[in-house]
Amino acid sequence: MSDIVIPKLKTNFSSHPLVNGDKGEVFANTQVWIFDLDNTLYPSEINLFAQIDKRMGLFISQELGVPLAYARHLQKSYYYQFGTTLAGLMKVYGTDPSKFLDFVHDIDLDCVREHPDLRRGIDALPGRKLIFTNGSRGHAERVALKLGVLELFEDICSIESCDFVPKPSHDAFLRMTNAHNVDPKSAAMFEDLPHNLEPAFELGMKTVLVMSHYMDHPAQKKIATWQELPGHVQFLTDDLAGFLNAGWAA
Ligand SMILES: [Mg+2]
Repeated sequence: MSDIVIPKLKTNFSSHPLVNGDKGEVFANTQVWIFDLDNTLYPSEINLFAQIDKRMGLFISQELGVPLAYARHLQKSYYYQFGTTLAGLMKVYGTDPSKFLDFVHDIDLDCVREHPDLRRGIDALPGRKLIFTNGSRGHAERVALKLGVLELFEDICSIESCDFVPKPSHDAFLRMTNAHNVDPKSAAMFEDLPHNLEPAFELGMKTVLVMSHYMDHPAQKKIATWQELPGHVQFLTDDLAGFLNAGWAA
């Protein structure tokens, strides 16, 4: 694998997903296909998450009565430290999670378009399909509906379902697997945040990193320095639909 060179950010490496194993072989026993939502099921380029990101800062500024710049600092600090901004706000300020989620997910979904190729790719996967998101159920439902894929999913494991314990904590993964009767060894996880794949891989899931151009988290920025895929990332693609629709043995 020493010949794998991860291109710099925004470099196009769509047609050849960087592979750390044989695709058909790796997923041969996969029965549950689990997808993150934001910047995974929809491409980061549509900038939907940028709206959520902005509203988180606004929420903190208004709720705590602090300048926006300081609110943004708190937002990112909590995100890096606790997994989500909400987890930090709940812990430090006792923030009402419903109020936060309603506010930050009150966004314009015009940029989300139907994605027939994505639908075809997900539909063709043999087995159960779940969405596992650190966002709210309502947000996941609205976005998946606009993409035209909602009905393909058996259920959504949202941040509410996990009692607001976010990925990448092991606890969040165990809550998800227990609630949905998932044997991690027969599951695959698709995610745009590489650190969220660590617990997935440790539990025995197959892992696919969907490259996001929304490089916000330090763990994402490190991708630019990778010389080869880390052990917990078995596949890397910047085109989820393309990945799902091609490269499977007959
Ligand atoms: Mg995501």
